[in-house]
This record gives sequence, structure tokens and C-alpha cells, in this order.
Amino acid sequence: MGNEPRQTTDITIIGGGPTGLFALFYAGMRGANAQIVDALPQLGGQLTALYPEKYIFDVAGFPKILAKDLVKALVEQTSQFGFPSFLNQNVAALEIEGDHLVLVTETDRFPTRSIIIAAGIGAFSPRKLPQACADSWYGKGIHDRVSDPAEFEGKRIVIIGGGDSAFDWAQQLRGRASEVTLVHRSDRYRAHASTVADVQQAASSGKTSLLPFHELHDVRGEGDKLTGITVREVKSKETREIECDAVLPMLGFHSDMGALTSWGLRVENDEIVVNSQMETGREGIYAAGDVTMYPGKLKLIATGFGEAATAVNQAVHWIYPDKKVNPGHSSNMAVFGQKDD
Ligand SMILES: Cc1cc2nc3c(=O)[nH]c(=O)nc-3n(C[C@H](O)[C@H](O)[C@H](O)COP(=O)(O)OP(=O)(O)OC[C@H]3O[C@@H](n4cnc5c(N)ncnc54)[C@H](O)[C@@H]3O)c2cc1C
Repeated sequence: MGNEPRQTTDITIIGGGPTGLFALFYAGMRGANAQIVDALPQLGGQLTALYPEKYIFDVAGFPKILAKDLVKALVEQTSQFGFPSFLNQNVAALEIEGDHLVLVTETDRFPTRSIIIAAGIGAFSPRKLPQACADSWYGKGIHDRVSDPAEFEGKRIVIIGGGDSAFDWAQQLRGRASEVTLVHRSDRYRAHASTVADVQQAASSGKTSLLPFHELHDVRGEGDKLTGITVREVKSKETREIECDAVLPMLGFHSDMGALTSWGLRVENDEIVVNSQMETGREGIYAAGDVTMYPGKLKLIATGFGEAATAVNQAVHWIYPDKKVNPGHSSNMAVFGQKDD
């Protein structure tokens, strides 16, 4: 546990995806102090972890924007208030201490007056390769996340998987990596048809190697340096060696709502049922974004932004009853130096 007890914060947001990031900004705009606690090592939620290099076309005001650039813009919008984000912190428990709540992670405690749960589909972690030979190579040539595509500039890479992430990265890294090989244990691909067609086209023109019906059999290296892998045909068991510098298993993610469902909230199918005020059934705890459920719910970034605003306005009024729920217009707020009345 941390040595110094932390100050009690007005609003602690569980989750630093687009919803949580917008909630953090909004709390600052409403004059509340706030913080984000997230299980992942980076902000951005699904956008950073699952599709950073994909364009998003349905965020208001942007004809198209890369997921990673939307996260960057959200972080910039939030940074004007200087609120902290605590990463690699999986919220495991909720306690009550005097007149406030405490969010408990494995290594820290976050005292808070209110909570906004913006936990999306839960804390997620990449699925590991099932072959034991891969275990000791994670972080030393096997990468289950791509945080910076530049890392693979000029490298020979092998991507393992048949879903969107595998095909997206095969497409995105084609120009950067010196060689791209995509290995999948069948010829049934779950990725978007146009991306599959693009990678198949690249394979037929020799720009990518596509190896259906193959799986990892062994990993080879010199010291700590990965130098290649052996793959095996699933039926014939025939093996072949591939020289490479990096292996990217893109096998999807496990997600886990963990402790969040056991806090006396209204939970159905791992989603938190909220009313139109984003209230969860427990005083001082609100929810927003993909984690919420109500009739007509749409799991979209745009919806999460609106719900974040509602949740923050309700939380601010609950903590400080003198503050109105209705925020007024940002275009006429002293906090932004644009008040004209
Ligand atoms: C491939 C793909 C493409 C998509 N394209 C679009 C699109 O074009 N347009 C669109 O509107 N939407 C799109 N979406 C959906 C969109 O990404 C989600 O609606 C959005 O990410 C939801 O944001 P969120 O902040 O609510 O949750 P998330 O983005 O899921 O973020 C939740 C965060 O909470 C954290 N968390 C969860 N549990 C805990 C815990 N116990 N402790 C600490 N932290 C925790 C997680 O680590 C995560 O960072 C797409 C999704 C995918 C997978």
C-alpha cells in the first residue's frame, strides 16, 4: 500500500477510456477535483488497446479521426485541469470510511466522495498464446500489444491470429516492417471482409505472407534475442521455420468486470443498470459509457460522452447541493475566461 494516505477527491473515475477521459475534463469544468484509476498501462480504453490505428467516422466534429488521435485530443482537453490518472491500478474493492468511499486496488487506496464507473467492458488483458514455449518470450520479442508501430520499423514480424486486430496490424505494419507474415490456425477469418481482402491481395502480390492452417510450434532465439519461430501445419503436422525479429499474437482480449459487480449496484449481464441520471442504485456512485445499460442504450463513443456529462453534473450536485445540476454553457464560463455577464 502507498505510504501517505491520499487526499479525498470529489470524483474518482474508474476507467480512462473515452468516457472516463471526458468525465475527467467535465469534472474540472464543473469545479470539482477528480482522478482516473485504470487497470491498463495507458489511457484510451478500447481505442488504445484494440484499435489505435483505425479511423473513427462517427465522433461529432471529426469527419474522420484515428482512434489514437482522439485519445490524444481527449487527454489534451483534460490536461488543462492538471488532474492525475493512476494507471496499472485494477480496482478490486470498495470500502466505506467515515463519510466517504475508498476505492481499493492491489497497491493503493483512493478516498473519494463519489465514483463514476466508466469501466467499459471491464478490465481487459490480451489472450496469451496457449503454447508454453512462448511464455518466456513475452516482452523479449513477443508483443501482445502494439503501442508504437515505429517499434517495428524494418523488422521481420509474424502476426498470429485471424480476427480484426491481426488483420488490421498486418495491413498497418506492411509499409513499416520489412516482412509481414500472418499465421492462423484455419482459413476462416473473423476480421472485416475488406481488410481480409486487402491482406489477401497483398499476399498474392508477394507483399505479405499468409499462412492459414498453421500454428506456433516453437520459438527460437540467441540469448534474450528472438530470432525465429517454427510453425506447424495443423493437419499434416509438417513444420516450417520462419526467421523473424518479433511475434505479435493478436488473439483478442479477456475482459473481467471483477469486483465492480458486487457493490450492491443494479447489474444485469455484467452491465450496470442506470436511470436517466446515470445513478446506479447506490448513492454517490454513477456509471457512464459502455458499462451502462438502459432501454435504448447504444454502445458508442458519442453516447459515452453524453452520459459522462450527465454523471458528472449529478455527482457535483450530490457532493455540493448548492451547485446546480445544469452546468450552463461552457462558452460562457469564467473557468475558460469567457464569461461576459
Ligand atoms: C474494433 C472496435 C472498433 C470500434 N469502432 C467504433 C467507432 O467507430 N465508433 C464508436 O462510437 N465506437 C466504436 N467502438 C466502440 C467504442 O470503442 C466503445 O464504445 C468505447 O471505447 C467505450 O468507451 P468507455 O470509456 O465507456 O469504455 P472503454 O473504452 O472500454 O474503457 C474502459 C476502461 O476502464 C478500465 N477498467 C475496467 N475495469 C476496471 C477496473 N476494475 N479497474 C480499473 N480500470 C478498469 C479498462 O482498463 C478501460 O481502460 C469500437 C470498438 C471496437 C472494439
